[in-house]
Amino acid sequence: MLGNVSFTLLSFFYIALLTIVYFSKKRIESKETKLYSYLIITTMIGVCVSLGTYYFMTNMERFPMLNFIFSKAYLGFILVYLYYMTLYVSYISYVKNEKKKFSDYFMFWLITFIFLFLLIFVILLPIEYSVNDKIVYSYGTSVSLVFTITRCVAIIWIFMLIFKKKKTSWKKIMPLIAYIVLGSIISMIQRSHPEMLLSTAMIVFVTILMYFTIENPDVKMIEELNLAKDQADRANKAKTDFLSSMSHEIRTPLNAIDGFSQLILEEKDIKVIKDEARDIMAASQNLLEIVNGILDISKIEADKLEIVNAPYETAKVFNDLVKLTKARIGEKPIELKVNIAKDIPEYLNGDYVRLNQIILNLLTNAAKYTKEGSIEFNVSCVKKNNVCRLIVGVKDTGIGIKKENVDKLFSKFERFDKEKNMTIEGTGLGLAITKKLVDLMNGKIVVDSVYGKGSTFTVAIDQKIVKNIPVKEAKTTTKEKFDIKGKSILIVDDNLINLKVAARLLEGYKVKTECVSSGFDCLKKVEEGNNYDLILMDDMMPKMSGTETFKKLKEKEGFNTPVIALTANAIAGMKENYLKAGFNDYISKPIDKKELERVLKTYLN
Ligand code: ADP
Repeated sequence: MLGNVSFTLLSFFYIALLTIVYFSKKRIESKETKLYSYLIITTMIGVCVSLGTYYFMTNMERFPMLNFIFSKAYLGFILVYLYYMTLYVSYISYVKNEKKKFSDYFMFWLITFIFLFLLIFVILLPIEYSVNDKIVYSYGTSVSLVFTITRCVAIIWIFMLIFKKKKTSWKKIMPLIAYIVLGSIISMIQRSHPEMLLSTAMIVFVTILMYFTIENPDVKMIEELNLAKDQADRANKAKTDFLSSMSHEIRTPLNAIDGFSQLILEEKDIKVIKDEARDIMAASQNLLEIVNGILDISKIEADKLEIVNAPYETAKVFNDLVKLTKARIGEKPIELKVNIAKDIPEYLNGDYVRLNQIILNLLTNAAKYTKEGSIEFNVSCVKKNNVCRLIVGVKDTGIGIKKENVDKLFSKFERFDKEKNMTIEGTGLGLAITKKLVDLMNGKIVVDSVYGKGSTFTVAIDQKIVKNIPVKEAKTTTKEKFDIKGKSILIVDDNLINLKVAARLLEGYKVKTECVSSGFDCLKKVEEGNNYDLILMDDMMPKMSGTETFKKLKEKEGFNTPVIALTANAIAGMKENYLKAGFNDYISKPIDKKELERVLKTYLN
């Protein structure tokens, strides 16, 4: 008799050990490990029920009710075990999306309802016991039903695995094969020896086998930790690379600014001084481009760069680009050929600032990397419904790009032919930004280049049509004259050099300027009754910021002088923030003369 139960007793120790080991270890929760946890608990309970069943069945006369409950509970355990195994099979054969919950799948509910339904049947159908020469075993419709379900479920698993929609390793299928093979052998043995209690031992064996075939929780955890470490290392390296390239890029123009400034101090010839001042200006412009490039890249990488669509006049955008390119070509023997298709709508809707940046970068590169010959600027369009696909081509007869470098062209900080291009300023950020902007605008950019002959960059971007009128001939804007002589301007900045620069830039307009170095002094000046026509206000000042000073000014009765935020804070959304705070306008530092003139024209003219 004991021989019959010894398998179950041994199984109890194994499963108890496995339960302790499995639940005492830290693991990564996945659908698979969760299902396995339920399977272990079910098996553990099942083994206890199995031992109880054995005990009550052999003492049936003393505990008829408990015997009935335990035999039914044992049949229920087999069903619950089959239920979790079926969920496991459906997981390894169909569930592709790890993030989706199991309960989001229809299959989960179907399996659950079918098993619940079967469980009710197993509980309600009769069970009988055979006592024959001290050999006790159960039979009856509920027992036969469970045997039938076991066979049917095994067939369903085979079908699910044959028609699976997911790649599954053989390792994961092994416990199922073991279950089917051992189940068939055991059912044959039990037909002739119904007293042999082998089913529980087989279930425990399959559960233990599964421990070695499910995604190993420890290995998975280590893998994930390694992955996180790799990512952190890579991010750290990228940051170090970025800092070292940046310090190099910034040092180059700074070297020019510093060197030429020292020379100017010692130089007496005004012509030489002017030349060197121009070089300082070019180096500063380069420095500014670097800073703006970094800002753009960081905004793009932090997903902060937004495409702001607004209607714009196409002719104006393209003509301005032509003007800027001509200025960039300067004295070089390069012919600029412009072909802007006549059927481009007069107004389009899109982010013209970014569109301008994309095209200007290509045109500037063409001008930078071409010594002589020509640059073609072609713009055409394909219209469909209310969308206009702008196709912009920039073709040059410049130095060209080697085939092996074309793939690296859009990566940041990549510059080629460094020896040849020694004298050409650049950061290697332009095309990286261009590509990201084109992607953000759902466009495409392609390059075709022959080393030594020239390159063609083509960009295609969809823009919405606002008014379908063919593009007009370019209007040449005559320079408006304006007179603001004698107007008084207060400049507020805590940095003396910045005050000096702003005051000097304003000198040419023959205005009266006054400089103060704090918000407090600004308030004092206004309280003393000084009437200014315009105030240029720095924001980041110690003790009282420009914004706070501005708020205090606004509280003063009768104060209606326009106040312009003048700040080096040029990150995304800053302009909008200043305007929201009530400032009349915004100029970013370093001050662009054109911007300054625009503000003077708007508020003083
Ligand atoms: P930058 O011009 O500031 O160096 P870009 O990202 O705009 O940076 O360009 C990256 C590199 O690609 C340049 O340094 C240059 O070597 C190459 N390149 C870009 N445009 C051209 C072109 N039109 N002709 C030849 N080489 C080019």
